[in-house]
Amino acid sequence: MKPMGPIPPGYVGRDNELLIGGQKVSDIFTSDIQTPLFVYDFQLIRERIFLLREALPPSLGLHYAIKANPLPQLVKLLAPLVDGLDVASGGELQVAREAGARHISFAGPGKTDAELEAAIRAGIELNLESEGELRRALHLAERLSTTPKLAVRVNPDFDLKGSGMRMGGGAKPFGVDAERVPAMVRTILAAGADWRGFHIFAGSQALDAGAISETQAQTIALATRLAEAVGEAPPFVNLGGGFGVPYFPNDVALDVRKVGETLGKNLDQRSDILEQTTFAIELGRYLVAEAGVYLTRVVDRKISHGEIFLVTDGGMHHQLAASGNFGTVVRRNYPIAVASRFETPATEVATVVGCLCTPLDRLGDQVLLPGAEEGDVIAVFMAGAYGATASPAAFLGHPPAGEIIVGVAP
Ligand SMILES: *Cc1c(COP(=O)(O)O)cnc(C)c1O
Repeated sequence: MKPMGPIPPGYVGRDNELLIGGQKVSDIFTSDIQTPLFVYDFQLIRERIFLLREALPPSLGLHYAIKANPLPQLVKLLAPLVDGLDVASGGELQVAREAGARHISFAGPGKTDAELEAAIRAGIELNLESEGELRRALHLAERLSTTPKLAVRVNPDFDLKGSGMRMGGGAKPFGVDAERVPAMVRTILAAGADWRGFHIFAGSQALDAGAISETQAQTIALATRLAEAVGEAPPFVNLGGGFGVPYFPNDVALDVRKVGETLGKNLDQRSDILEQTTFAIELGRYLVAEAGVYLTRVVDRKISHGEIFLVTDGGMHHQLAASGNFGTVVRRNYPIAVASRFETPATEVATVVGCLCTPLDRLGDQVLLPGAEEGDVIAVFMAGAYGATASPAAFLGHPPAGEIIVGVAP
């Protein structure tokens, strides 16, 4: 038997079935809505945002990085609850605009001229990833006779400790090395563009409040140094995000209150040059990961060399991360359960696989479950972020998973 990650809080059973958004799984299915299916409970997202607003300094903006889950209906529901949407492609920009976001910023390497033009026309903030991108943005803005809103994404000279994905420190395709940023800001100012400030993102998926606080303190210090070098205050600083969620055995939920308290103190003590600056953080998975459950049905139960295999109608083509092939070196089990026997005691060790003809397609490796049969429904938790859109949907030509939202009415 191998351990699995913790089932996120808020999931309970009724009549031996998993409830999602107050509905039994069997009640969620209709003639049109069947497995494989992602179900997102919007009530959990709403509660998460409420909890964050309580824990974080009141002046701090909260942005949603929509690549974690860009489902248009979900983004539309989320947009009014946050202070901004952060996008990383022209496609996401379109989704964010249609969602009616209050503020949109566009980061990400390799923005094409068409994407830059769409952003400048829409009057949204561009987080520039290089001097080349600045040149192209200024050129396009001149042609469009528009004053572009430009911030500089900084490649910080530190990274977020314990982070699952390092996005700062050393040579990176993201952002501009800190020492070249002041010259770039002077170019922006000299061109008469609307300089919006800095975007400093140092990493993702950290569960240690101390590590996040340390990175935030370093980020504020870096913004201070850069502002002093420029000789002008940035109107806005995006402090990045990095708030992680517990996917795996022994992962412990992040203490956001602690992060909020320390950040409040650090912001209160910031140097004079940042006095008028507003700050925000950008979170992806922390807002949505735990609100999503991936449901897949057992098609076949078989034994090989004494090991039980539950073969399902889903797999890594929908939920790559749970198969262990998205940004992890060692495969570990996401939390998983038999949704149709949710309150039955676990009695057997089984391996849950998808329907793809590759050994990579494992959703649960030797996990302890109640005995499941053909027709039972398996729930893979932590599926609200980097699920459907971060998986190789076309691989092997099976149909895509459905995506539905429950818990919409507060
Ligand atoms: C991916 C990304 C995020 C979101 O990361 P999470 O780990 O989902 O919170 C935030 N900011 C930037 C710049 C990103 O690239």
